[in-house]
Amino acid sequence: MARAIKPSPVLRPQARRRMTGPMPKQHFSDVKTWVFDLDNTLYPPHVRLFDQIERRMTQYVMDILRIDRARADHLRHQYWHEHGTTLAGLMREHDIDPAPYLIDVHDISFDCLEPDAQLKTRIQALPGRKIVYTNGSAPYARRVIEKRGLTGVFDVVYGVENAGFLPKPDSRAFDAIFALDGLRPTQAAMFEDDARNLEAPHAMGMRTVHVAPKPETADHIHHSTDDLAGFLAELV
Ligand SMILES: [Mg+2]
Repeated sequence: MARAIKPSPVLRPQARRRMTGPMPKQHFSDVKTWVFDLDNTLYPPHVRLFDQIERRMTQYVMDILRIDRARADHLRHQYWHEHGTTLAGLMREHDIDPAPYLIDVHDISFDCLEPDAQLKTRIQALPGRKIVYTNGSAPYARRVIEKRGLTGVFDVVYGVENAGFLPKPDSRAFDAIFALDGLRPTQAAMFEDDARNLEAPHAMGMRTVHVAPKPETADHIHHSTDDLAGFLAELV
């Protein structure tokens, strides 16, 4: 059956994937650890939960550096490029304390999140260890997981604090988390909406899956999908 390569503006019932490369099922047959990003991966980006966090991050930068919104937005953009996250830039350039920052920016409403029974079933059906690794904090991740009805599905949740506040996409952050977990990258898969966060996992030998409404073509992306549950259904 032919599958469309071009992104479609309408959601298709079947998971999208690239036509080239190995078929998902056989490509994942030796995977023992499944690593999931959190934001915009375990919930769809259209619910715009992360918008709330971004607004709070901008406000935090304005307050702590005593600058206006335009300057704060500019700095956040710059830090995201140069340091991976706003927090990493604030820590390196301004020596700010990460703990109160992480509590403040994640103090948001979770009302836009709904339980996803299908996603729960699909993740539970995967053989092996399932973990969440986010650039947010682990307590925040656990709240999102709870609101998505995914409590009890994951063996462990890692936040940026577990990598000494060094964020993805820095390969040292992945090294720290994977060493902590004891996972073997050559027997693991990474699911992420931010394509740059798949570069290090790919270089380490992981299977990489880009989860996003719009596919991106890059050598470090093995598979793309706009439907995580649908993609996982094809693997078991
Ligand atoms: Mg994300």
